[in-house]
Amino acid sequence: MSRDTELKEIIEDLKNYLEFQQSMGVKTLPVEKNETRVSAPEISRQKEQRTEPMPKQPTPSEQDIITIDEPANLFDGKVMTLQEIEQEIGDCTRCPLHEGRTNLVFGDGNPKARLIFVGEGPGRDEDMQGKPFVGRSGKLLTKIIEAMGLKREDVYIGNVVKCRPPNNRTPEQSEMDTCEQFLFKQIRFIKPEVIVCLGATAAKSILKTKASLGSLRGKFHSYSGSKLMVTYHPAALLRNPNFKKPAWEDMQVVMKELGLPMPKR
Ligand code: URA
Repeated sequence: MSRDTELKEIIEDLKNYLEFQQSMGVKTLPVEKNETRVSAPEISRQKEQRTEPMPKQPTPSEQDIITIDEPANLFDGKVMTLQEIEQEIGDCTRCPLHEGRTNLVFGDGNPKARLIFVGEGPGRDEDMQGKPFVGRSGKLLTKIIEAMGLKREDVYIGNVVKCRPPNNRTPEQSEMDTCEQFLFKQIRFIKPEVIVCLGATAAKSILKTKASLGSLRGKFHSYSGSKLMVTYHPAALLRNPNFKKPAWEDMQVVMKELGLPMPKR
């Protein structure tokens, strides 16, 4: 890589990192003596400065770790490639969501990803472009991924349902029951080390639980040998900036698990 390209990438990474910190409400960053490099997230210091209420703490009975296997009846022991899964979905009419779609949103990213993000279902922009997380929530997700020191191309991004629910409503249970098999097949092929469920719908689909997001987040569960972290959906972070700090803490647990360099404190 040429020095110019390297420099451009460093500047781009720094820009994304700063934008993410700014979107978390961080207004200043310390610069250490004799260093021109920004010395990293303000999260620990912000703890002392910020006064917003933290999300509700889980009660002890909700603190359980969930361990779940992939549904056995789906696979007959077979691992399908992403291409085969996409072919199997085809021009899907299995549930009513197909009626309103422009494009089916299969999923996107590195087929050998160590990390998968799972959302709920496509929104308007995703439906238009046929790609997951490309709208406002997607831009924030990209910033989160880049603040973790990764690029979007490093990870895989998918959804529980592949067609946009009308007016972005939450997918119905029957729609999830019909479509989630394809997500499970995608996960089976990719075999990621870590799955991040973005929001309660993804958590409900994969972990088969009705527990609250607040009680599920912050620790690893397990799905078919992959560690699974539940965190806030980027749309929730856009609506409620109080959730940005715990969401970033969740991502730091994921970074540690993947052996990614942690930001300096
Ligand atoms: N929200 C989701 O859950 N998925 C997307 O792909 C976009 C927005």
